[in-house]
Amino acid sequence: MTPPPPAPHRSGFVAVVGRPNVGKSSLINHYLEQKIAIVSDKPQTTRQTQLGIITRPEAQLIFVDTPGLHDPKTELGQYMTNEAARSILDADVVLFMADVSLPPNADDARLAELLTKKPGLAPVIIALNKSDRLKPEHVILHSDAYRALVPEAPWLLVSAKRGDNLDELLRLLLNALPEGPVLYPEDEVTQTHLRDLAGEFIREAALNALDQEVPHGIAVEVDEFKERPQNTTYISAVIYVERESHKKIVIGKGAEMLKKIGMTARQAIERLLEDRKAFLELRVKVRPHWRKDKREVERLGYKRRE
Ligand code: GDP
Repeated sequence: MTPPPPAPHRSGFVAVVGRPNVGKSSLINHYLEQKIAIVSDKPQTTRQTQLGIITRPEAQLIFVDTPGLHDPKTELGQYMTNEAARSILDADVVLFMADVSLPPNADDARLAELLTKKPGLAPVIIALNKSDRLKPEHVILHSDAYRALVPEAPWLLVSAKRGDNLDELLRLLLNALPEGPVLYPEDEVTQTHLRDLAGEFIREAALNALDQEVPHGIAVEVDEFKERPQNTTYISAVIYVERESHKKIVIGKGAEMLKKIGMTARQAIERLLEDRKAFLELRVKVRPHWRKDKREVERLGYKRRE
């Protein structure tokens, strides 16, 4: 008897869409077991479309982490909206994430409409996240309400925080991908992203250290990322803020705040660099209203993908 033919290799793009704060970055981080996307309690922290890649013998899955859909009030807002729409169009599978501990709101409905209104769009899989926070009396009520938004889509209750049902979710995603070859060699991916990731970690450290006073008017530009002797990586970066008063806050009394940001970011970067040490130099500069200026938004790394 001839053995059954091996299952075909699959590969493709999975767009992760959902409102801010539903747990998209947490989920991707879990799968990658490495901090790629930014996680923060403050919404709107994931700005660039980011790749996270899972390579298995039978499949390669490329996560495209999209920003939430927002009203385009500023250039940055517009950019984020375009990026989100684009990653949905380019995707092979769409992972629609929601916070199931809360009922769906108008943004969830708007997003679901975007995912279903056009024929020929990628199949959708629904991840109902934060199931660890779901009250028993809301299980059916909330699950049904989300499922009704994309009626045909397979769905799962998951917890990115506790790891519940995430293997099952990954299996659903892998099986939904089209047949195809390995698209990215793994080592190449890690190398090209280190520098960008360093910038993201600095931004994350700053956002977490600062309170609401310096909300999202922060951008980080890594101007040097060099390997030095004695297993050291030298990184120099600028934190851009929109106002002089914000600069004072970011630096802090006796530069305490900047030191704190630098230390947290350095620790995160060193985890990524594995056995290398990081030497991090941070400066703070004012760029008034950079978020409203298209050129500045693009210069600071929020470029459109071709
Ligand atoms: P994103 O904006 O959709 O990328 O959301 P994040 O991944 O940044 O998560 C937002 C917040 O929700 C963070 O404080 C996470 O720790 C938290 N979070 C994410 N997933 C879960 C979950 O499954 N359960 C609980 N309780 N919290 C979660």
